Amino acid sequence: MNVEEDVPHVLAVRHGTLRTTRDHVFHESTAPDGSPITLDYHAWIARVAGRTVLIDLGFSAAEAERRGRLPTLSLSSVHRRLGIADDFDGDVILTHLHYDHTGRVAELPRARFHVAAAELEHWLDRGADDGLLSADDLEALRLARRQGRVIAHEGEFSLSPAVRALPAPGHTPGQLMVRIAMEGAPGILITSDAAHLDEEYEHDLPFHAMTDVEAARRSYALIRARRATGDVILTGHQAGTVERYAPSTGPHVARIDLPESRRRTM
Ligand SMILES: [Zn+2]
Repeated sequence: MNVEEDVPHVLAVRHGTLRTTRDHVFHESTAPDGSPITLDYHAWIARVAGRTVLIDLGFSAAEAERRGRLPTLSLSSVHRRLGIADDFDGDVILTHLHYDHTGRVAELPRARFHVAAAELEHWLDRGADDGLLSADDLEALRLARRQGRVIAHEGEFSLSPAVRALPAPGHTPGQLMVRIAMEGAPGILITSDAAHLDEEYEHDLPFHAMTDVEAARRSYALIRARRATGDVILTGHQAGTVERYAPSTGPHVARIDLPESRRRTM
């Protein structure tokens, strides 16, 4: 492994984008106006100590078409370019089970999927549907579960000393965030949809789709607290995120390194 690859980092992949209006994005309690706003759709790849952990799997081509989302590139092609083949037998954290985070479940028949127990219980066992789920992806997840490849977690959990998943409910009952860092040091916090947009957690402006708005506000406070300690915050759908960081394998992929002072020994 060369030095570049040895530095712990996260790749943020923009696999889609959507031009919409603020009244379609923010919760009605925030009295949003109809001015335009762009959402980008992200998936992430964490590379730490020679290990690759996938964080969310984008949307499938079928769901993008069904919902009028504009794909910017195929996540599978990015994965392959990074050496993550379809027989990838490593770990995937699914931060929640909405369609734009589960798109490649069926395409990774050897991967292990880590999900919050509360999320599985709410959508898979209870069968709730708020229109943001993909029936095909859930079926693929059910199959993976029968094959023993779905691990349900209660509370926080770690996949390695530097990769930790943190519950942040509100958008969904089992929404997870993922922190890349050593214990006690600032790191990179991938909020996924615990906050879709920066202004959501910065200004306490809940997203329109919520299973528990008050829980979401508590999750925003958690994100603000992490930012105050020096964490880099990557939200799920903030437009222009990839342009903020160093380009990686193409125009829609950015690399975010743990700053040197934060790396310690991983
Ligand atoms: Zn999302």
